Amino acid sequence: MKVTEHIERANGKTLFSVEILPPLKGQDVNCTFKTLDPLVELQPAFIDVTYHRQEFIYKQKENGLLKRYQVRKRPGTVAICAAIQNHYKVDAIPHLICGGFTKEDTEDALIDLNFLGIDNLLVLRGDPIKTEKSFVPESGGHAYASELIEQVTALNTGNYLDDDLQESHKMDFCIGVAGYPEKHFESPNLGMDMYYLKKKVELGADYIVTQMFFDNQKYFDFVKKCREMDINIPIIPGIKPLTTFNHLTSIPQNFYIDLPESLAMEVLKAKDKEAIKEIGLEWCINQCKELKAFGVPGLHFYTMSNSSNTKKVAEAVF
Ligand code: FAD
Repeated sequence: MKVTEHIERANGKTLFSVEILPPLKGQDVNCTFKTLDPLVELQPAFIDVTYHRQEFIYKQKENGLLKRYQVRKRPGTVAICAAIQNHYKVDAIPHLICGGFTKEDTEDALIDLNFLGIDNLLVLRGDPIKTEKSFVPESGGHAYASELIEQVTALNTGNYLDDDLQESHKMDFCIGVAGYPEKHFESPNLGMDMYYLKKKVELGADYIVTQMFFDNQKYFDFVKKCREMDINIPIIPGIKPLTTFNHLTSIPQNFYIDLPESLAMEVLKAKDKEAIKEIGLEWCINQCKELKAFGVPGLHFYTMSNSSNTKKVAEAVF
């Protein structure tokens, strides 16, 4: 079932959903089931699976020269989605990115997903790979999520890249996109970022999932601004609890968001690791309770494949 149908059927009740990472190369599918088993008990409406493109790594050869290798540490997004749908009968949502894909690769991936009965996507541009300063699109691929949305909506009307195809099967993907209450890190200001968000909606996005935030006011302001700009699709908040001292630096560094002063000061004063986790989980529970009272369509948890923290928060909130 599509995410938009889940929201409609919930009739105002807040949905619970999670995002997981595919297993690291070398692990098997049971690693994913081990992460998901405790979370599926809480009946998530859908489970997102991230996409990780190949990275370049350099290894020294015997002659001392460096050789460049292409590696994908977490392949298998499409197959893991199919395994989740088969095993749990819960809708799985693959993340589809521009980076590393030509338009033909994208079309083939969408055909696979359609054959597998997967009818939801989270459509993204993808981040620059570590060896690039800024995002470099694949030659013959897409530079922005909006272009990828156009390809998906074309397939939704039966328009494939091959013009000669007659009476082609129409796909029926429900399209989610990313939104950034504290703006995307490359954008010169929030207004311009939201201008492009509106473009994604006009091109066919059905719902928005936000980047994580730790100050609900940022989400409330973002929703208000969206509605003022006539962006009227559901806006699902993305949630992650802060649980370690390192998160004080790694979260702003990796996700380009601020941490509220009072939360950061509490963590600084905490006596040990357990106390930090308690502070972070309590903050997250309070955040979720306030968002639920506000009437958000769902709470979408970035689990980072750690189920126990998400479970503690979800049990306290749902
Ligand atoms: P876009 O919407 O294309 O925007 C990128 C930037 O370009 C923004 O600054 C925007 O303002 C600007 N822009 C947009 N359109 C135009 C245009 N036409 N002309 C000029 N400027 C424009 N990354 C992964 O690699 N794999 C994942 O699985 C993944 N999952 C994610 C899930 C969520 C919920 C979120 C919030 C992010 C996720 N990301 C993932 C990270 C995401 O790929 C990065 O944040 C990426 O840098 C931007 O992706 P986007 O889809 O928001 O890009």
